[in-house]
Amino acid sequence: MPETITAKSPFDVAKIREDFPVLSQKVNGHPLVYLDNAATTQKPWRVIKRMEKFESEEYGTVRRGAYQLSESSTRMYEEARQKVADFLGTPDRNEIIFTSGTTQSINLVAYSYGRKFVKAGDEVIISNIEHHANIVPWQVLCEEKDAHLKVIPVNDRGELIMEEYEKLLGPKTRVVAVNHMSNALGTINPVKEIVDMAHAVGAKVLIDGAQSTPHLNLNMKDLGCDFYTFSGHKMFAPSGIGGLYGKMEVLKTMPPYVTGGDMIRQVTLEKTLYADPPSRFEAGTPPISQVIGLGEAIDYLQAIGMDKIAEYEHSLLEYGTKVLEEIEGLRLIGTAARKASILSFYTDQIHPHDMVTLLDQDGIAVRGGHHCAQPTMQRFKVPATSRASVAFYNTYEELDLLGASIRRAIKLFS
Ligand code: PLP
Repeated sequence: MPETITAKSPFDVAKIREDFPVLSQKVNGHPLVYLDNAATTQKPWRVIKRMEKFESEEYGTVRRGAYQLSESSTRMYEEARQKVADFLGTPDRNEIIFTSGTTQSINLVAYSYGRKFVKAGDEVIISNIEHHANIVPWQVLCEEKDAHLKVIPVNDRGELIMEEYEKLLGPKTRVVAVNHMSNALGTINPVKEIVDMAHAVGAKVLIDGAQSTPHLNLNMKDLGCDFYTFSGHKMFAPSGIGGLYGKMEVLKTMPPYVTGGDMIRQVTLEKTLYADPPSRFEAGTPPISQVIGLGEAIDYLQAIGMDKIAEYEHSLLEYGTKVLEEIEGLRLIGTAARKASILSFYTDQIHPHDMVTLLDQDGIAVRGGHHCAQPTMQRFKVPATSRASVAFYNTYEELDLLGASIRRAIKLFS
């Protein structure tokens, strides 16, 4: 272990690992080394058991029934909304809309806010290092509205070039949509500055928080963005649930995105009056058990402490960076001064798909591909990368195993 890296963890990692049943299994005869946390995270017992209890003893529909099971389900559902609000640092839980995840949240904003407020000739700004979920909905909107999509370029480290961003902003800018943390590179973007600069020209700002939510201590009121998105499955909660934070004053101006039951105030055969947010944006029966699971995952994270998580993960990232930098012929893609969790790499000898298959033989789970971020790959002139991404249940030893396995793979192909 390099001298600059302290092996001291702000919490007991061995004990934390016992909370995650999946981590104790073997894969191909080796203990599982799970390093694909940017794609999806594992769930602690607490979340699994909470959902099991809800499904087996407490399940009822929400917002409809006047009987006990439905009333208590509704209370738990709204308590979970409060937990998300506290976690994201907003006092008003009605600013939290449950969706299926980041993809749906961004589509909601692009369809609802975008179709009402973006007109022909207007401009939407994204960055060169977005996930496709934060590119395609804006492309579709701009095509439909005859608006223009502008792109903030990045430097060779994978950092947004803020001077170029400043040049793109103007009176025609309606929306700026960028990620807080890049899933392909790990770059943490200067979102507060991005928000302030956009607001200065009267634009609204959506921050894609799919990657940042499990790693950073967040506060929507300090950040000041208009929208912030997240996905439960990337923060130790179930898949199929996530959400959108929206400033109430902005949400109130927006028409519904999906229509039907539960999003109305009154329906006659002639006309429908819509409910206030968040119900206006939650048509239909929601994934109730998943919402309860999300609330439990947040309790779990809060009990550990997001600052402690960030501190430990940062030291893991520094350690992993050193391990990979020592491997001859390996190129790290994404070397921003501010980054988290992600080690994306490329070697000329092996295609990332072969690399991850060989790592899997050693029980190591990492992702190989374009990570739904093809424009990022194009910017760095690589077809794909291999990507290891850490969470707080990973260890320095696992990163040593990753390094050894990569060396073995390179040797095999040389
Ligand atoms: N944005 C980023 C930065 C992501 O990493 C992802 C998922 O990998 C998404 C959006 C899409 O998230 P989901 O598939 O949970 O909707």
